[in-house]
Amino acid sequence: MFTVEEFNTRNGILEYRKDLVTGLSCRISAERIKRGIDQIPTLIYASDNCPFCPDSVEKVTPTFSDGTRILHGESVTFPNLFPFAAWHTVSVITRRHLVERFTPTQIEDALKGQVESLRTHHGYTSINWNYLPSSGASLVHPHLQGLVDDHPSDRVDRVLRGGEKFFKRERERYGDYLIDSEKNTDRYLFGSEIAWMAHAVPVGEKEILGILPCSTVDEFQDFITEFTKDLLTMIDLYQAMGTHAFNMSVFFVPPDETRDFSSFCSMIARINPNPSSLSDSAFMERLHLEPVILTSPEELGRFFQKERFNLGR
Ligand SMILES: [Zn+2]
Repeated sequence: MFTVEEFNTRNGILEYRKDLVTGLSCRISAERIKRGIDQIPTLIYASDNCPFCPDSVEKVTPTFSDGTRILHGESVTFPNLFPFAAWHTVSVITRRHLVERFTPTQIEDALKGQVESLRTHHGYTSINWNYLPSSGASLVHPHLQGLVDDHPSDRVDRVLRGGEKFFKRERERYGDYLIDSEKNTDRYLFGSEIAWMAHAVPVGEKEILGILPCSTVDEFQDFITEFTKDLLTMIDLYQAMGTHAFNMSVFFVPPDETRDFSSFCSMIARINPNPSSLSDSAFMERLHLEPVILTSPEELGRFFQKERFNLGR
C-alpha cells in the first residue's frame, strides 16, 4: 500500500516513499545518519520553579469546574491553562521531576487519568506525550496531554478518508489489512492484542505504529494495561538505539465514526537533548510535511528482532 522510488545520489541511495491510503510521503536517506548529529543526552534539568513538582502541582495548576483534579496513583490530571483544543487536559505522570525508567503503574495511572478527563467529551480524541525538551516539551517534568475537538487533525482526517475508500473497495478495515500484510515483513515488531510495526512510510525518525483493537477512547480503557506494557518496550527499544526523546500520540474517533477506523499509536524518536540546541525538525518536516528519515523501517524492525530479549523488560 505504498510506493518506493529510488534515486542514486553521489552519496548513496535516496528513497521516495508514498503511502497510497493517507497520501503521506517521506524520503529515506540512510547516509545522513553518518553526520552523527545525535549525541549522548545531556539530562540535567533543575526542578526550580517547576509547576508540576509535588510542592506546586496542587497550588498552581487549574482545577476542573467542580474544583477538583483527577488523582490516580502518582498522577495528577487537570485542564490545560493554555489550551490548543476545544478540550485539553494535562496529566503529570510522576512525582519525580526526572525519571530514569518509568514503571508500568506510573504510566497506567496517568493514562487512566487522561481517559477519565476525556471520555465524557464528544469528538476526535487523542492522548499525547512530548518527552524531553528536544521533542518540543516546554516542561521537562513528564506529562501527557489529552485533546478533544469537533474536527479531526490532518493525520486522522487522512486515515479516515483513506480508510473509508479502502473499506468500500476491500470490505475490510485498513488497520486489519495493515496488520496482516505487514506481518511477513522486516518492519513487523510483535503483537498480541495490539500489533506493533515500524511504519513503512514514516512521519518521523524511527516511527512505530501500534494498531489497537478499538476505535474510541471509552473502549481504550480495556487495553490500558497491555498498551502500557508495550509502550515501555518501545521506549526501551529507542533507548537501546541510543535515543531518549520522543513524541507519542494515540488517536480515537467518536462512536459514530468507528466503522473504518482502528485506533492507532504513532511514536517517533527525536534528537537527544543537547547543549547546542540542534533540532531534528527543519523545513522538510515542518513546512513540506515530508520528513527526511535516516533509519529505514526495515532496519528498525530487524534491530528489534535482534535485540528484543535484551531490551530489559
Ligand atoms: Zn518538576
